[in-house]
Amino acid sequence: MSYIEEVYQRVLTQNPSQPEFHQAVKEVFDSIRPVVEENETEYRRNALLERLVSPERQIIFRVPWIDDRGQVQVNNGMRVQFNSAIGPYKGGLRLHPSVTPSVIKFLGFEQIFKNALTGLPIGGGKGGSDFDPKGKSDREIMAFCQAFMQELYRHIGAETDVPAGDIGTGAREIGYLYGEYKKLTGRFEGVLTGKGKTFGGSKVRSEATGYGLLYITQEMLKSNGIDISGKTVSVSGSGNVAIYAIEKAEQLGARVVTASDSNGWIYDSEGIDVELLKDVKERRRQRLTEYASLRPSAVYHDKKTEGTTPWSVKTDIALPCATQNELTLDDARTLVANGVIAVCEGANMPVTREATEYLKEKKVYFIPGKAANAGGVATSALEMSQNSERLYWSFDEVDSRLRDIMTRIFRKIDKAARDYGMPGDYVAGANIAAFKKVAEAMEMQGVV
Ligand code: NDP
Repeated sequence: MSYIEEVYQRVLTQNPSQPEFHQAVKEVFDSIRPVVEENETEYRRNALLERLVSPERQIIFRVPWIDDRGQVQVNNGMRVQFNSAIGPYKGGLRLHPSVTPSVIKFLGFEQIFKNALTGLPIGGGKGGSDFDPKGKSDREIMAFCQAFMQELYRHIGAETDVPAGDIGTGAREIGYLYGEYKKLTGRFEGVLTGKGKTFGGSKVRSEATGYGLLYITQEMLKSNGIDISGKTVSVSGSGNVAIYAIEKAEQLGARVVTASDSNGWIYDSEGIDVELLKDVKERRRQRLTEYASLRPSAVYHDKKTEGTTPWSVKTDIALPCATQNELTLDDARTLVANGVIAVCEGANMPVTREATEYLKEKKVYFIPGKAANAGGVATSALEMSQNSERLYWSFDEVDSRLRDIMTRIFRKIDKAARDYGMPGDYVAGANIAAFKKVAEAMEMQGVV
């Protein structure tokens, strides 16, 4: 059995019932096979892959808090500190009922490689809770965030582990988490990113993942002789990533016709009105049905009754920006039948493995999340730099660094794919470029 296969079997045995984690490891292992084969004796002796797939530390804790009726609620809390070979652990906190150790481990594992691709000194981690912020009052959100931080604070720090937002964790939650950290430790430091702009938050952080997704998509299309302007784009999700992906796509001259949430999706023949979407989602915290009721050109499709998704419409570019495994093989078939040119992952692992293989086979340009959505964590790292310097950079300065980082990521993954004889395979390119960097750092630091 090859070394890669041996370690993969070990992952399956040691982590039963963790399908998302298995899926993430498999994707990386399939891509890095040529690099591992080149160095098999050395990696095997140093148990490099065994160490790579084992988190350095996993913290699981209870989060008791009191709801508005005076009832005590208990949620799970967790933080996986996966790999610190190239910098302090960095990765978001997800608050969603679907959060399990498998989901957090898959996200933490992906984060190692994504962070390596940014070219910035950040290691990989991820955390979260099965708490559902939907429908909770502000006071309940605060109570939960404070209780969550009452345990987490002892494991994080500006030089050790710097969490950020993710699904369900936006500026409001980061604010409450930061306030509690400060109260518990007495320290005002860059321990969380995605903070409010009045207390250390970076300009462009809110926009970063969505904008970065469009910068890399534009760069990839350009390198293949295609102009994004005038193209039709389908987006899923209507959260942080989706909203700013829509905004930047429209600024670049594309027409975005869909957005979704967990209940359904909208098709807007006139192109999504991003200011209205922001008003509905960011300010009023309402559902997409509200957008449709205010916009005559929009049609709402209910997920339960119709069973359709944004991938059923004719589009040139698909940008899944909601959650993992949301674009299936059937969706990929429909997209291809409708002439899709490119699929770029705004969310983490939103395209299933089978769908990714199918898109590859059909020569659809595909950029995996670890490269395509790295703009968020890259800008978080820029926030850490500003916090350390005790300075704020202007919007234009951060935005131009973000664009530069995304362009460099594209060049790196494109080059790695070519170097290993797989031109245009950006999944392989991303995994190989990132793995080589992390592996080298791990080897140089000895057996730790
Ligand atoms: P938000 O919570 O702001 O938005 C998530 C969106 O996805 C919402 O529209 C939500 O709908 C929808 N969604 C969530 N879960 C499901 C589900 N199970 N089925 C269908 N729709 C769902 O999160 P973000 O925009 O921050 O994150 C989106 C994705 O991008 C995630 O995969 C995240 O890990 C990834 N990402 C985020 C980064 C960031 O900077 N924010 C950075 C890099 C990656 P509803 O409101 O109904 O729940």
